[in-house]
Amino acid sequence: MKKLYFGSNLKMYKTIKETTDYLTSLADLTGDISREEMELFIIPSYTSLERACAFVDQHLIRLGAQNMCWEEQGQFTGEISPLMLQEAGVKLVMIGHSERRHVFRETDEEENKKVNCALEHGFTALLCIGETAEDKKYAAGPEVLRMQLKKGLFGIDAAGADRIWVAYEPVWSIGVNGTPATADYAERMHQEIKRCLRELFPETGEQIPVLYGGSVNPGNAKELIVQPSIDGLFVGRAAWQADKFNELIRSAKKAAGR
Ligand code: PEP
Repeated sequence: MKKLYFGSNLKMYKTIKETTDYLTSLADLTGDISREEMELFIIPSYTSLERACAFVDQHLIRLGAQNMCWEEQGQFTGEISPLMLQEAGVKLVMIGHSERRHVFRETDEEENKKVNCALEHGFTALLCIGETAEDKKYAAGPEVLRMQLKKGLFGIDAAGADRIWVAYEPVWSIGVNGTPATADYAERMHQEIKRCLRELFPETGEQIPVLYGGSVNPGNAKELIVQPSIDGLFVGRAAWQADKFNELIRSAKKAAGR
């Protein structure tokens, strides 16, 4: 039975206490769900990470960082090094979130350096990709996604690909002004992503989990999760209350026949 992935990026929300309260509650509420069939992960703020790692059993909730520098140390004011994240106890690093690409102007080349660095330091790398509204208007979504995958994953070998997760988050679907992708559209893009991953990694590409993110809510989670090429849901706003996220997870799991 294929494992389902559920996760949330807390962005620049929640204090350290709010984060640990949230994680404690989410771990309690979801504790009875087998982790053989579900991977649950949360990506809190940097300042919460060390406390969160001390608080939470990462077999229940894997913890991730929202970004990471590609160098171990040096003159990179404001950046966080892989060694610092290892020290905090983090297992997962998110790379190339839409806000990093579009607000902070990160490039595919930079995301690629981060992915390589994350894998070299033993992390799982969650690479986020997604087309803009303009790309979609010109029906260029598939080409854009392929380009982001080919550049972002350049130089990764089959062994490294074992620790890659991909989140497909169309830029136009994310956040308060976003419109969720229809399940049909998301499935077509996921098929394209999976095709590209199989081309890049003929032996292991099929195993790389591909999650959908962008205005996932209790109303659309079920129809998204039942799509054959969607392996999980990467949820923002609808996940930031532990009880609501627990309900969303359970209804999605039920829809998927678990
Ligand atoms: C996101 O920003 O990655 C995200 C999925 O947010 P939301 O679900 O709130 O659209």
